[in-house]
Order: sequence, then C-alpha cells, then structure tokens
Amino acid sequence: MQIKENLEKRLNGKSLSKAENLEIYQALQQLTQQMLADTPRIAGDRKLYYVSAEFLVGKLLSNNLINLGIFDEVRSVLAQAGKDLSEIEELEPEPSLGNGGLGRLAACYLDSAATLNLPADGVGLLYHFGLFRQSFWEHKQYEKPDAWLTPAGWVEKTDVSFTVPFPGGPVKSVMYDLVVSGYEAGSNRLHLFDLETVDESLVKDGINFDKKDIARNLTLFLYPDDSDDDGRLLRVYQQYFMVSNAAQLIIKELAGKGYALRDLHKHAVIQINDTHPSMIIPELIRLMRKDGISMDEAISIVSKTCAYTNHTILAEALEKWPMHYLRQAVPELVPIIEELDRRVKAKYPDQENLAVIDEHNLAHMAHMDIHYGFSVNGVAALHTDILKEAELKQFAQIYPEKFNNKTNGVTFRRWLMHCNPELAEFITEKIGSGWKKNANELEKLLQFQDDSETLNRLLEIKSQKKAQLCKYMENRSGIQLEEDSIFDIQVKRLHEYKRQQMNALYIIWKYQQIKAGHKPARKLTLLFGAKAAPAYIIAKDIIHLILCLRDFIAQDPEVSPWLEVVMVENYNVTWAEALIPACDISEQISLASKEASGTGNMKFMLNGAVTLGTEDGANVEIHELVGDENICIFGKSSDEVIHLYEDGPDRYNPAALYPIDPEITQLMDFIISPEFMRLGDPENLGRLYKDMTRKDWFMALLDVKDYIKAKEAMLADYENRQAWAKKMLVNIAKAGFFSSDRAIAQYNEDVWHLR
Ligand SMILES: *Cc1c(COP(=O)(O)O)cnc(C)c1O
Repeated sequence: MQIKENLEKRLNGKSLSKAENLEIYQALQQLTQQMLADTPRIAGDRKLYYVSAEFLVGKLLSNNLINLGIFDEVRSVLAQAGKDLSEIEELEPEPSLGNGGLGRLAACYLDSAATLNLPADGVGLLYHFGLFRQSFWEHKQYEKPDAWLTPAGWVEKTDVSFTVPFPGGPVKSVMYDLVVSGYEAGSNRLHLFDLETVDESLVKDGINFDKKDIARNLTLFLYPDDSDDDGRLLRVYQQYFMVSNAAQLIIKELAGKGYALRDLHKHAVIQINDTHPSMIIPELIRLMRKDGISMDEAISIVSKTCAYTNHTILAEALEKWPMHYLRQAVPELVPIIEELDRRVKAKYPDQENLAVIDEHNLAHMAHMDIHYGFSVNGVAALHTDILKEAELKQFAQIYPEKFNNKTNGVTFRRWLMHCNPELAEFITEKIGSGWKKNANELEKLLQFQDDSETLNRLLEIKSQKKAQLCKYMENRSGIQLEEDSIFDIQVKRLHEYKRQQMNALYIIWKYQQIKAGHKPARKLTLLFGAKAAPAYIIAKDIIHLILCLRDFIAQDPEVSPWLEVVMVENYNVTWAEALIPACDISEQISLASKEASGTGNMKFMLNGAVTLGTEDGANVEIHELVGDENICIFGKSSDEVIHLYEDGPDRYNPAALYPIDPEITQLMDFIISPEFMRLGDPENLGRLYKDMTRKDWFMALLDVKDYIKAKEAMLADYENRQAWAKKMLVNIAKAGFFSSDRAIAQYNEDVWHLR
C-alpha cells in the first residue's frame, strides 16, 4: 500500500490535510513501528551484547524513516498535504535514557552494528524519568523529572521476565524492547529491563524520592544522586539488576540455540560499556556455578566472553565500591569477587595496584574487568596511550595483548543525513551517494577545495542552517539570534575539565575589550548547552556565571550589538541536532589528557564547523587529518599537564597567576566586582572565584591567555570567507574516519569476530 493511503487508513479515513499534527505523528509512528517489525531480525551463530547504563537514542521517528529508506517519500507526501515533517517530529518526546557522550556513543554503535548486519543487541534499563529535565530560574539550574515514557511509543513490552535475587527477596523483571533499524538493513533490539513494582508517585519535590525503597524506586532515574550512602547503594542495586537480567537473557538465548553453557564464549561476546555493567562478570560466574560448572572453568569461560571499554581517566569516575555496600546489595556476588581478588593476589603478591579489592576494602570495577576480560580498549589514540603508559600501566605490562584502541565514531545517518539534509544532498550532488555506505568517499570532496562555486554553496548552506536555528530558537525560547553573527558553540555536559569556565573568562575579556572601544568586525554569538549533575556545586556555579554574563551583556547597550551569550535550557539530542549544523566555531577546549575522546567534536566537523581545541582526545586525530591550516589548536599538551599533576599541588598553582598576572587578575576580579555581583548571587560567584583562584584543578587559568589569542585569530580568519569555506570543506571531507560504521567494523575485526 502507498504511504499516503496507509496513513489515511490509520487516520480513520481522515485526509492528511485535515488531520492535526499529533494525529499524523501517531499514525506515522504506528506505520513505522509496523514496518520495523517486518524488517528481518539480524541473526548469527555468534552474537554481541552491548551492555550499558545509558543509551541516549534521541528521537526515533526520522531516524527510523531514514533507515527504512522512506524518509524522502514521507516528507513529500506530507508536504503535498501542507504538513511539515519537522513540525510533526517536534511532538515526539525524546527518550531520556542517557547523560552525555557515553550514552550517545552506545546509540550510534547500535545503529552502525545493525547497518553492518551484525547480530548485536543492546541491554540496559528502562528509566521512567531518565536524566532530569533542566530549567533555569534566576540564573540557576533546577531539576524536574522528565516523564518521557508515553503509553503509545517505540518501547514495547515483551513477555520475557527473569527473577533477580535481591537480599530483601527475589524480584521479577519485565523486558521492554526497542527496535534498532540498520540503514537499509535488518534490525537488532535494544532490551530495556524494568521492575513492575516501581512507583512513579514516589517522586516528590523536584527529583527527590525515598532512596531506601528499592522495590519502588529502582528504575525511576538514571544516576540517582550519589552524595549519600542510600544513593550509592541504589546505584549498586540498579547495576546488579541490569547485569543479572543481561546474564540471564544471554544464557537463555544460548540455550535457545541449543548450545551448552560451557560454549558461551564461542557464541556470545559481551561489551562492557564503562564500569557500570562490570558485575556481569561475577554474575555470570555465579550462574555457571549454579549449573555445576567448576570455579576454574567458569572464570575461564567468562574471561573469554567479556570485553571492556574504558571511557575516562578521571579518578572519581572509575567506580570503586566499598565491600560493605556489596555485602548489603549483592551478597551472593561477594564470595566470587573475593575469589577473583584472591587469585590476583596469589599471582602478583607484591603488586597492590593490581588488586580487585584494595587495602581500604574497595572493589575496583575496572580492575576486575581488565583481569577477567579479554579486551580493554580506550576510545581515542591519545586516550589509549595514556591508559597504557600511565593510568593502567601496571595492567598493560602484564596483559599487553588485551589493550587496543577504538577511536569513537558517530552515525552519519543522524548527524548528517537527518540533521543537515541540505548539506547531505549537496555532497551527493558533488560526489554521488557512495559516501552513505562508505564514509571515506567524502574525501572526494577535496577535488573541489579551490572551486569557488562549491565553496560559496557551502557558505550558503551554513547560512541556511543558521537561519533555521534562529527560527527554532525563537519558537522554543523566544530568543532572537543575529543570523549574520559568528556562531561559536560549546555544548556538552557541564564539567570543570571541559572548561566552560574558561570560555566564560573569554566572554569577560571580550566584554572588557568592547567597553575599552575595541569593536570587533562582526558580532559574536556564544551558545552554550549543558546540564550539571544535581550535586555538583562548582558546575552549577559555572552555569550561574554564564547566565549572569548573558544578562549583564544583554543589558549593556554599548556591548550587546557586538556580543551575545545564549544558554539553551535542557540540552539534549534534539537541541544538538539543531545547533551543530549551524555552528561556525566548535569549542573543544578540555584540559589536555582529560577528554577521553569526545564525539561532539566529530559531529561539528562533519557539519562544516572549524574546531577550536586543545590537543586532547580525538581532537588529536582531527588535527592529524585536517592539518594545521584547518583547525585551531592551543594550550598545554597532555604530557605537560600529566607532569603538572604528577608533581603534586606545588607545580601548578593558580596563585602564581592570580593576582600576579594583571590580565588574568582583571578577568577574575570582574566575577566579584560589585556591579556584577549585583546581578548574580554572591554566594555562587564568590565560591567559584575562590575555587578558580586557589585550586583551579582543571587549570583554566593556565591556558586562558593562549585560548583568548587563538579565538581572536579564528575570528579574524572568519572574515576571509573563501578561505574559511575551504577549511569547512576540508573538515567535511576528512570526517569519514569518524563514522561509527568504521569504529564498529574495527571492533568486529579485532574484538568481536561476529562474522
Ligand atoms: C554528542 C553528544 C554529547 C557528547 O558531546 P561531547 O562534546 O563529546 O562531550 C553529549 N550530549 C549530547 C546530547 C550529544 O549529542
């Protein structure tokens, strides 16, 4: 049946032109869901289970339409009826199942695995409210539950259920499924587990709830506040619930194929995405022991099945659970974890830094993964080097064969074809459509790098995307952006290591310059989007600083024609899709060595933004690919930074810069100046000022002067429009390496061996 007729049938005979957008959305969603159900399920003798606490999938309608190959047709059918697909899409709630890059990566990887026809299912949790919804009021962040789950949506209840042994008595899970379509390929599943007894009415007053009532609170939120014992224990319960279900599902499917449990490693591979799912190792061993397999053999089988991806070297993010938590929440795993630890200590009696359980009785999840998994990968070349040479050196020495690099990637379906169809079509016009299946073909664009017609078209498309963002921004937030200004964008989680505070110092500098009469050639618009973890005080103070700067500048008629600061509320995938194609300057300014990879950097590059960045994470690889001419690099190198940390608190001391260096002093003093304090909250601004001038743990003051210089140079470069367009073109042409199709092909080749 034709799409139009099919939709109208679902509208009970109402014509498309007469139907409301919401009715059309529902009809389209049902039609798409039906078509997804009809796509062949990808099968194979050996299957990947990608276990992750987060899957930041984003809205699914357009992505599914693209992958089913009917996006253009649907869009034109709707257009003929006077309807706009992007307006209809606005009505879809965005699933709130992730926090940032790690969760978005998991979503991109599922998309690519299905596209490459690899049997690969995701396993995670169905959080009722996911990550909190952010709003701003009086220059501060507020958190509310995000009720994203609607009765008629993409997530479908299955009849699969497992019993999970909690100390208070066994609980029964329910499995929900989300179809993951590949691009013009079959489909896999994302399995999301929930507990029937969870009670949304437990949530009161923002995002607060009774953290002790596990049966009723287990899957309410992603990353419940862990600033107290109850919150941390709840995270252990969540993790155990996730991995016990995953392990039981994997064993059930193995049995379903007629294989013995002993052959698990031949037919299944488990990718442990960061340390949250690490307890799947002892859980699988527990289940095998129950089945009569010896401890030795169980450990050997599991160690050949599990592979671990490390996402961070920030010590506070590498999970270490006190044994008394584990005794309370997962008592049946404790003897197994102790046995795993005993074996390590017996083999390496003198190396405390290899222990699974350390001298403070903390269980190191990453250490367990490395000893009892067969692969350990970092997520960018620099990150993997740092793991091997510094952070996990003691492990790389005993297991050199386990360590490997898999530089992250992003799916070009969502991050180009969907969010920037104008650019995608232009690329196809220039080099054909082969790039959609083989992203390296984007390099063919290089032949046009001196062709002024091509360069002008790139500039036109950028203007068009900027105009669309202006319209979108006005509809959503009532803010009118200046289309002809330079769009400089920093969107990512709020964290001191990502250094939004350093960008804020640039804003202060620029404000002072304009006040001193140095007017720029063109207006600069700085756009931010970031959520701060609810208990992360300094991160919230940085949001406060940015929001105060926004209003302080807007209220100054001398400065506001030249400088504008905008911070979008509730930054998420949908916002990213609107912002990234409209970006001129991509801010990737983390303290070198701290950003494992980044994936935002890749999305921006692919959409023709030029990176302003430190030599960190995948920025290093972007730099190598595009060359010095087409990126702007500044700041201390990761080697220098690592040495500064090694030498302890004396080597880098912001007190050597403030109040010694007059330029830095002028920026910092602005934060606590009476006129600025009148607008902001002295408590927040005072605390941030103190922290940055006395601790500055992520060294914003160290790089800020170099940063200002680099950004000014970029703004000057922008004025040569043809030269700038050439940088854009080279960035797009070289982005092929960052396709998640490439990353997944490498995982399969080196780690998973699914075919
Ligand atoms: C890509 C993405 C991220 C990751 O951004 P980084 O700059 O790599 O930290 C975070 N959030 C959303 C919504 C994204 O789409």
